[in-house]
Amino acid sequence: MIQTIRGTRDILPEDMPLWRRVEELAREAFRRYGFREIRTPILEKTELFARGVGEATDIVHKEMYTFSDRGREDREGESLTLRPENTASVMRAYIQHRMYADKSPGELTKLYYIGPMFRRERPQAGRYRQFYQIGVEVMGASDDPAIEAEVIEMLDWYLRELKITDTTLLINSVGEPSMRAEYLELLRAAVKLKLPQLCGDCRERCETNPLRIFDCKNGACQPVIAALPVITDSLDEASREHFEKFKAHLDARGIAYTVNPRLVRGLDYYSRTAFEITGDDGLGAQNTLVGGGRYDGLSETLGGPPVKGFGFAFGLDRMVMLLPEAEAARLRAADAPDVYLVFLGDAARERSFLIARELRAAGISLLLEFEERKLKKAMTQAAKSGARYALIIGEDEVAQDKYGLKNLATGEQESLSLKEIIWLFTTKNT
Ligand code: AMP
Repeated sequence: MIQTIRGTRDILPEDMPLWRRVEELAREAFRRYGFREIRTPILEKTELFARGVGEATDIVHKEMYTFSDRGREDREGESLTLRPENTASVMRAYIQHRMYADKSPGELTKLYYIGPMFRRERPQAGRYRQFYQIGVEVMGASDDPAIEAEVIEMLDWYLRELKITDTTLLINSVGEPSMRAEYLELLRAAVKLKLPQLCGDCRERCETNPLRIFDCKNGACQPVIAALPVITDSLDEASREHFEKFKAHLDARGIAYTVNPRLVRGLDYYSRTAFEITGDDGLGAQNTLVGGGRYDGLSETLGGPPVKGFGFAFGLDRMVMLLPEAEAARLRAADAPDVYLVFLGDAARERSFLIARELRAAGISLLLEFEERKLKKAMTQAAKSGARYALIIGEDEVAQDKYGLKNLATGEQESLSLKEIIWLFTTKNT
């Protein structure tokens, strides 16, 4: 038997209502807040991520699915990569399509995306090699911290609407990349003193990307990490002021947060505000639900004009895991058909096809199975389908042009004309 490859999975029909809810509500949030959708290719030039995400990040360094494209004739093919994240691609599209041109001062480009990402991580609960992200990017000339607060306000609305309540908003400022060198030296020096107590990954990060040490989940490293100098104490004045304003905007919106000076995020492009939303329950070790921040230098890194940017991404996989059980059950039930059609006899079967067509044309979802069953079996099947009603069509019903509509929850049954059935569904039940 051929099975899915490691770290990938099928999302089965019983889970799809949950996935759709997470997606559809996100689209609604984005509509309300003025974001427009963009879809970028899943395959991009490797260089985009090497430059955009950063060579020294774990993602680029060891997690990308990269391969050489087939070259033409004797030329070697290009190096291509399955996108591990979408911010670099969206920024590439922004630059490529000159979305910054013809903008009035202060006009922002607000984009969102939904789609699969690929990282060759060690699979575990909540961590897959093909996973799905929903994210937004706000790009433009302004780095107003009110932009950041508004994006977080949108997430706050979204999570509450999904009935996901056990979450924590963690915020930090990682300062200006240009001012970061001094802090990185300080950090490196402190790490070097403790090198033997750190795991292999952290020892490597000390040279390549010391900030990443703060993302280490290894228990043995934690006491060392807790004592390292934090970036928040080395902030440049402008970043400090920006961070204070950002917090004030959150306060004004009544949004609770925790400042975590050790929150640095793994990617190279972040500057100033970084944030995460963690799930306090139900995600296990992979408890980061949303990650985001400001990436003011990214456009220039990719050869574009100076542009400010702020955005986030969350994992659909993890959002679905956090949906409360009652909400999940409600969504699954709502996904069942309105009507399960039961026919008895050949004449009824033929009539059923016509009735089914009329009801479906009126917007009713109806399940019709073509095999005739005994009434009792058919009713069991109707209940199993989760339908709210069974529509029973036998010889008498055909003769009278009135059909038995049975409410499967209450057991009540009425004899109704086609018109009455349509009326019932289109007025009372929708
Ligand atoms: P990142 O792009 O690493 O900042 O991740 C943003 C969000 O995407 C995380 O908070 C997760 O919700 C989700 N995510 C990242 N990597 C994975 C993965 N391997 N499997 C499932 N979800 C992921």
